[in-house]
Amino acid sequence: MTHAIKTRHKLAIHGGPATIAKAFPAYNPYGSEEVEAATSVIRTGVLSQYIGAWHADFLGGPKVRAFEAAWSDYFGVRYGVAVNSATSGLAAAVGAIGIEPGDEVIVSPWTMSASATAIVVWNGIPVFADIDPQTFNLDVGAIRRAITKRTRAIVVTDIFGHPADMNGIMALAKEHKLKVIEDAAQAPAARCGDAYAGTTADIGVFSLNYHKHIHTGEGGMCVTNDQGLAERMQLIRNHAESVVAGKGTENISNMIGFNFRLGEIEAAMGLQQLRKLNQAAQAKTRAGTRLSAGLEGLRGLATPTVKPGCTHVYYVYALTLDETLIGVPRVRLAQALAAEGVPGVMNGYINVHLLPMYQKRIAHGSRGYPWRAAGEDSRVSYAKGICPVAEHMHDRGMLGIQTCAHDFSDDQVDLVIEAFRKVWDQLDDLR
Ligand SMILES: *Cc1c(COP(=O)(O)O)cnc(C)c1O
Repeated sequence: MTHAIKTRHKLAIHGGPATIAKAFPAYNPYGSEEVEAATSVIRTGVLSQYIGAWHADFLGGPKVRAFEAAWSDYFGVRYGVAVNSATSGLAAAVGAIGIEPGDEVIVSPWTMSASATAIVVWNGIPVFADIDPQTFNLDVGAIRRAITKRTRAIVVTDIFGHPADMNGIMALAKEHKLKVIEDAAQAPAARCGDAYAGTTADIGVFSLNYHKHIHTGEGGMCVTNDQGLAERMQLIRNHAESVVAGKGTENISNMIGFNFRLGEIEAAMGLQQLRKLNQAAQAKTRAGTRLSAGLEGLRGLATPTVKPGCTHVYYVYALTLDETLIGVPRVRLAQALAAEGVPGVMNGYINVHLLPMYQKRIAHGSRGYPWRAAGEDSRVSYAKGICPVAEHMHDRGMLGIQTCAHDFSDDQVDLVIEAFRKVWDQLDDLR
């Protein structure tokens, strides 16, 4: 017999050789452009140029303003307001739309915690609506069912890099006179039709933190087409309480100032990073598409959905699992894949409503605020069971890869596919 018998390597978790022997290098979007941009700011000696009083420099220095202009130009919106994180940006946005203590704001349980915290900061009450099992984004029907007479706004996240159903959400919001804030931190440059994620809501918020597609270390950007909202966010960003008198601002509600300012170095780097956004987003789309082609057909595994006309920029590559079809618990699969060297394996994702803050209703101080302030008739529930889809995905249904943490070249993607196929070939050994 001359033809070789295909050797089947043992799973790495059982002592066999790992499919991916050498760790992928960490994602690094910086080049000499950012080094030059940062050092040129340092040479000027002015690393931040805001003045926290009503003054020409209230809106920040030249790099901040240039970065805002470039960002709003790229995204086709009228105003960009640079901030020092998306968390700050979300807080500025919720304050800007005029939330009153006790107002309800609908939000996804399947998002980074800051999407919901931004509501609590203003003594608003987060109301969690369930997600769509295909895109993991807020489900429009679930939002509709969560609306009460107290509802004032929706914070919608474009989770994992796929845009939320903004047509459906904006139509519903219009019908009920609700404001919409879109947390596009994970989806810069993702599109549905001609619309970029983050641009169709009243306010869109982007992140520039170290883990995102493009970054400046820390940073964020709010976008809006509404001049009044832009002004209110600019005020909240920079000590509003000390500024409104000089500026002659009439509506001083929520003009509690913070320091949400982005510095000149970050803005200068952001200008360079923005020029690389197309390429960064397309690289992720390419990696996700290639992964899906390679993983198609594995038993009990469904590759991520991309809605017709939309693009997915794969901050996370999220598979859905049917554990009963596979016959192996998710945690075991995740361990086997990690042992094969697959980087950033996620054994589920967060359920924000189950965090201690909501379970114990302890946020401002220790006595139940803001929920107590909302009054006895506020019956918002955070019990397990209110968001069955998000809970199922958290407990059993979703297995992800943090695609944003590495470049994921074609060769690397192929290794990941090989690792999955090896594990799926030997499911019996994991049972
Ligand atoms: C990263 C992230 C944030 C927070 O961004 P920061 O810039 O770190 O504050 C908010 N929402 C989502 C969905 C995120 O992924």
